[in-house]
Amino acid sequence: LSKEEMTEILIKPPFDKVMLGAGARAKTKELFGEELTARQVVERIVEEVRQQGNGGVFKYTKYFDGAELSAETLEVTKAEIDSAMAAVDAAVLEALELAVANVKKFHAEQLPTSWLTEREHGAMLGQKCTPLDRVGIYVPGGTAVYPSSVIMNAVPAAVAGVKEIIMVVPPDREGKVNTNVLAAAKLAGVTRIFKVGGAQAVAALAFGTETIPKVDKITGPGNIFVTLAKKAVYGYTDIDMLAGPSEILIVADSTADPEYVAADMLSQAEHDVLASSILITDSSELAGKVDKAVTRQLAALPRQEIAAQSLEDNGLIIITPTIKDAVELANLSAPEHLELLTLDPFSLLPYVKHAGAVFMGAYSPEPLGDYLAGPNHVLPTGGTARFYSVLNVETFMKKTSIIAYTQEALAAVSKHVIRLAQAEGLDAHANAVRIRGN
Ligand code: NAD
Repeated sequence: LSKEEMTEILIKPPFDKVMLGAGARAKTKELFGEELTARQVVERIVEEVRQQGNGGVFKYTKYFDGAELSAETLEVTKAEIDSAMAAVDAAVLEALELAVANVKKFHAEQLPTSWLTEREHGAMLGQKCTPLDRVGIYVPGGTAVYPSSVIMNAVPAAVAGVKEIIMVVPPDREGKVNTNVLAAAKLAGVTRIFKVGGAQAVAALAFGTETIPKVDKITGPGNIFVTLAKKAVYGYTDIDMLAGPSEILIVADSTADPEYVAADMLSQAEHDVLASSILITDSSELAGKVDKAVTRQLAALPRQEIAAQSLEDNGLIIITPTIKDAVELANLSAPEHLELLTLDPFSLLPYVKHAGAVFMGAYSPEPLGDYLAGPNHVLPTGGTARFYSVLNVETFMKKTSIIAYTQEALAAVSKHVIRLAQAEGLDAHANAVRIRGN
């Protein structure tokens, strides 16, 4: 295939052009009386929550999650968290604690420092780093539960020094939140938790409701409705990135174990029918073996229906003449997760330009990064790794410039400031310098 044809295959359609599956289309038609695109659905939900607050939240939580909530039950109580901590499996708790510790340690290394530097004539310049006051973290919970996403969002926020970390997560039909998710929230330092998911949760955080506080920034992954809602509220509040359905792209040579490759492809495919799993290899022998291994391993998976659909719609095996060509195609795709399963992955690393996270060699499978290694698992998807970075401590901070000139320092440059102000026709600007006797 030509590069143009490959581009067409590898570059995902923009988020708002994603077609909904038959189930989602039918649900939407039932709710709104007409067939809508995902973007139109989200626009309606966001507007309704913006205008009706809790009313909109309750309506859509009932419709999509089957839970009947009220202002009294919308927030997770301390008693609910305490009973989750008492009920959580001891081995899971130990793993969660290790994950929190590793993620904290990794992100502590990212903490930016405020600085001041001296210039001529005693002038000082600097940068002050400040955590955001209140952030909202979205924890997905539709078709699977993600205590790991709680940790990956809340820990960097806590490390950044954010005082109020507001979490939203879709409840189950009984209006309950998963025990492990609540335990993770407690360990990770979440301040308040609300039982709401989807576009309605994002809108509630962006505009505030009678019960849910408005936040300065919304972070976290979610399905297409969550992602499009973040896009819709951007500007009213900040967002981290557009983190949509998961993706893995594996670059492998003939030395890769086909069983490992198949397992790693399936680990993404089971997320979501929109998730994508791609293998690019210079070995047609490996390609054939992976194809067979995927079919065999798929048959044993509890979530095989989702994984099979995902592979059918978005699974690919591409054979390239050389392994460098494979990396070039990977850059074109800008995948969320890039695995380099080759003899010497470090020799390929300099050629990697666009990827959310890179997993090097046979013993760094993507789920290691999902849960426990320490780096963040909230990553840009849909080709947006071309310009977004992985979620990090600075996602939860902002920078303010400091300018502290002395009289002498100002005098030394005043004529230039005045000249530039006059060149822009801004006389009051020039005057503010002139009036200081310079
Ligand atoms: P979710 O919480 O993102 O979505 C569930 C919500 O979607 C429901 O509460 C409902 O409000 C809404 N919804 C469902 N059907 C709808 C419809 N027809 N119309 C409007 N709204 C609808 O959970 P999920 O669905 O399980 O998706 C989780 C996603 O997050 C997956 O795509 C997974 O790959 C991704 N994920 C990504 C990362 C990452 O770091 N990038 C981590 C974990 C999960």
